[in-house]
Amino acid sequence: MPITKTITETRTTSLATLQEYADKVVDERYKQPLKTIHEALAVHGWDADPFPEDYKPTCCGTQVSIRSFLGGPYFVQCEDCKRFLVDITGPQFGNSWVNLPDGDKVDLETDIEHRWIAGQQERA
Ligand SMILES: [Zn+2]
Repeated sequence: MPITKTITETRTTSLATLQEYADKVVDERYKQPLKTIHEALAVHGWDADPFPEDYKPTCCGTQVSIRSFLGGPYFVQCEDCKRFLVDITGPQFGNSWVNLPDGDKVDLETDIEHRWIAGQQERA
């Protein structure tokens, strides 16, 4: 007769939600409820439906620039009007290091679709 074992996992540490993480790392003026990629694109009127795999929004007459990491875009910006989208789970590059959110401290599984911020940088 097979033995059935039930394993109960207990989390001893409580993880920060992505929103809490965002509120900690994001500059004051860009703090906002996290968005899905579609919600974030729609903020700038960049949404596409259907959403092609290699979608690059067009803004101010040209394609926006996209920075990717391990195949996933994490920063999208129009060089002209400086409107941008950023994936807060993406890398934050220092001089020679990559700083990703720590999965031991931040919950990177719950509602991971909501991880984008839409904003506009001041023009220099
Ligand atoms: Zn633009």
